[in-house]
Amino acid sequence: MRHVAVLGATGSIGASALDVIARHPNRLRASVLAAGSNVDALLALCARHRPDHAVVADARSHAALRDGLQALGLATKAHAGAEALDALAAEGGSDTVVAAIVGAAGLDSTLAAARAGKRLLLANKESLVLAGELLMAEAAQAGADIVPIDSEHNAIFQCLHGGGAHGGVQRIALTASGGPFRGRTRADLARVTPEQAVAHPKWSMGPKISVDSATLMNKGLELIEAHHLFGLTGDRLDVLVHPQSLVHALVSFVDGSMLAQLGLPDMRTALAVGLGWPQRLASGVDALDLLAQGRLEFEPPDLDTFPCLRLAREAMDAGGTAPAVLNAANEVAVSAFLQGRIGFLSVPALVEQTLAALPSCPAESLAMLRDVDARARRHAESAIASGAFA
Ligand code: NAD
Ligand code: MG
Repeated sequence: MRHVAVLGATGSIGASALDVIARHPNRLRASVLAAGSNVDALLALCARHRPDHAVVADARSHAALRDGLQALGLATKAHAGAEALDALAAEGGSDTVVAAIVGAAGLDSTLAAARAGKRLLLANKESLVLAGELLMAEAAQAGADIVPIDSEHNAIFQCLHGGGAHGGVQRIALTASGGPFRGRTRADLARVTPEQAVAHPKWSMGPKISVDSATLMNKGLELIEAHHLFGLTGDRLDVLVHPQSLVHALVSFVDGSMLAQLGLPDMRTALAVGLGWPQRLASGVDALDLLAQGRLEFEPPDLDTFPCLRLAREAMDAGGTAPAVLNAANEVAVSAFLQGRIGFLSVPALVEQTLAALPSCPAESLAMLRDVDARARRHAESAIASGAFA
């Protein structure tokens, strides 16, 4: 029996993870459920999955969670606050942690799970962008196995570990759907709304990653994620726009082979891989019918219309603190865009300006990365407040 802590249980990845877990009651159990502030949604999940522990990050919600669990007649223990979340990521009787909190807010609990040597199903890509070297080193030291829960990286994981052979990787290509604005011009993008940006053509996801997919920052974050997970430098990492979103990634080997992983765009496949590995588990996702799908197309990304991908690549190549600055500025920009405070084209502009204002230096410690993250956020917030990014 695998005991699973689902961090970010009320989100899109959390729902997919719990769906797969519920399909295998004899093998999988949700023992910890964690959410940000939505107590009602967390209570509903507790009623369904009966975990040992439930935790809300918002410390003021402790009483509401405790009383709600009691009213439901559940034995689930209530916890609240960031420290409780980190402690449950490390303890809580689980052997497996689904790290699916959105943004840098997920870093501490992800690190806590890695340090505790858990099997880490890593969806929270921002923690790898912000502190990838440190996180990978902590995981290696503690013997924590990482299974990436990003469709592309999970696909690469399967290509690297599923075929029996080892080594000889030449290049890796991540595919990108191109997002809702593929084929548009910069002029078109000036007036797009948050509603249009979150309407992803292929994937159903939380709002932040949906906007990242529309700006192509998501693919940029994923390049940095791949660099840390698979140890390849940027010159061996490619991006291919593939509008059908059926091929999730491709790995080229020195012998001329190229392996790809295909499947319908549904994150339950990646989660089933992580929850069952090295065994395959039913995920509820239908088999891919290639005749019904018809075509597989590939094209290069448009870096002029979608500069976020270029900015992320530059930050990856610069290394040091640059990816942390990129991530922090992007989180502030996406949140401001979703609130209607800035336009879509201001997202890359704000990221670029913040990167220029906080030049990269060597990332020597977690404390330094946290400091740079905070400074980049302050810089981006005050740039928005100044009215320079309408
Ligand atoms: P979401 O917005 O749907 O869910 C986010 C979850 O995080 C919620 O449960 C929320 O309560 C929780 N949360 C937010 N702030 C928190 C805080 N401060 N403390 C504790 N919990 C907090 O997001 P999502 O789409 O599920 O994405 C989650 C992560 O997975 C992101 O890093 C995203 O990039 C990554 N990811 C998602 C997908 C996808 O298909 N949705 C695919 C690949 C990677
Ligand atoms: Mg992805």
